[in-house]
Amino acid sequence: MSAATNPNRGDIAPDFHVAIIGGGITGINLALGLQARRIPFTIYERAPAFGEIGAGIGFSPNAERAMAAIDPTILAAFKAAANPNGEDYFQWVDGHATEELLFKLHVGKDGFQGGLRSDILDAWASLVKNPTSTVQFGKTLASIESPSPNSAVTLHFTDGTTATASVVIGCDGIRSRVRQLLLGESSPAAHPHYTSKFCYRALVPMDRAVATVGQYKAGTRFMHNGPDAHVITYPVGGNKVLNVLVVLSDNGGWTDKTKHTGPGSKEEVLDAFAGWGPTVRGIVDLMPEQMDKWAIFDMLDHPAEKYNKGRVCIAGDAAHATGPHLGAGGGMGIEDALVLSELMDAAARGVGSVEKALEAYNEIRYERTQAVVKMTRRACLLFHWQVEEVGNDGVKFGREIAPMFLKVWECDQEKMVEEALAKLEG
Ligand SMILES: Cc1cc2nc3c(=O)[nH]c(=O)nc-3n(C[C@H](O)[C@H](O)[C@H](O)COP(=O)(O)OP(=O)(O)OC[C@H]3O[C@@H](n4cnc5c(N)ncnc54)[C@H](O)[C@@H]3O)c2cc1C
Repeated sequence: MSAATNPNRGDIAPDFHVAIIGGGITGINLALGLQARRIPFTIYERAPAFGEIGAGIGFSPNAERAMAAIDPTILAAFKAAANPNGEDYFQWVDGHATEELLFKLHVGKDGFQGGLRSDILDAWASLVKNPTSTVQFGKTLASIESPSPNSAVTLHFTDGTTATASVVIGCDGIRSRVRQLLLGESSPAAHPHYTSKFCYRALVPMDRAVATVGQYKAGTRFMHNGPDAHVITYPVGGNKVLNVLVVLSDNGGWTDKTKHTGPGSKEEVLDAFAGWGPTVRGIVDLMPEQMDKWAIFDMLDHPAEKYNKGRVCIAGDAAHATGPHLGAGGGMGIEDALVLSELMDAAARGVGSVEKALEAYNEIRYERTQAVVKMTRRACLLFHWQVEEVGNDGVKFGREIAPMFLKVWECDQEKMVEEALAKLEG
């Protein structure tokens, strides 16, 4: 039985308070989970308001189940902002030579829908009650002081202010300050590392996309694969916009390996796809003349040994940032938020201790999230025909890629939460 549904649970300790650093996908889902369980919290967000970049995102079936288990209104808000699927399949096409289907995978009824990140985050942010007392914008975490075990933690912000909390959960993304403070700034594990892949993103008006690739290709999710590159397209924004993500293997195009973004152009993307089929070149031609390009970093090479220490932990990208290739990173943060909401609910009511709750969180989430980071790297090699024994063979590709997606999608989250709570109680 989960903590939230246990009728015999105790009262919340009077001074219990959770500090959430960062109000992205993970931080907002965690806040809504605590709100549903009546656990006091504050989100400290460095930006002046909640916000996401103008791009698409899709949420996997496990992410949807986690949203519902955190609070059904989260799933309802996502579904209202999501675009209907053209077809309930992932479809991979040889975008280089034949333009034939390589493999397709059923995603379930209305499964893995995409939407605009900004629409989804706005919808979730509107569910936060009393934002004036539960959210502090313009607060950049600088350091954390934990004077002794079992006592409150003090947060220091770059504006010179401080705050205290019973527990600090770092949901502060791929360049997490909380991670640096937990692991030591000089540790290679404190920072993400370049994966030798980079990407370009664009939102294209649907009428132009339909005129170029036709209604069917523009109205449903496709990935076009080929040597050293792939292109993902899916409709967002009420079928008015086509979301385009182009991922390239780095053959010398990214010079400063520490930089996360840089200026890019359509011309250089078209050059990268010289010799590819007309569909991919047509899609690229719809992108703006000038756009940013984004290096893809992850935490595979230098993982954190643990996600927790004392009364501090990391969640979402701060703990296990991964490339976008399995569309799983956001969903992993939402699963973290589910487990942490349940554990904080129990700990706040006197079950075990905060430290023990964070230990249980780490033990339950570590293996699965690290596996996703690893599989995601492998998936990109498959998409780029860089796995010699698979190459462009659709049957072999399907045999490798399907189990990866299914491993992400088919998690028994009820059991995961039960096991986490049993560890806290044990
Ligand atoms: C190209 C691309 C496509 C992707 N597509 C998908 C997809 O389809 N599906 C999917 O599930 N995932 C996808 N992902 C992964 C997904 O975007 C991330 O996993 C997710 O956004 C991480 O959310 P987060 O809340 O953990 O971190 P973030 O979104 O990075 O949020 C961190 C927040 O913390 C704040 N912050 C940072 N430092 C501080 C500080 N010191 N003090 C206070 N606040 C701070 C930031 O301002 C930010 O608001 C994709 C990723 C990429 C790069």
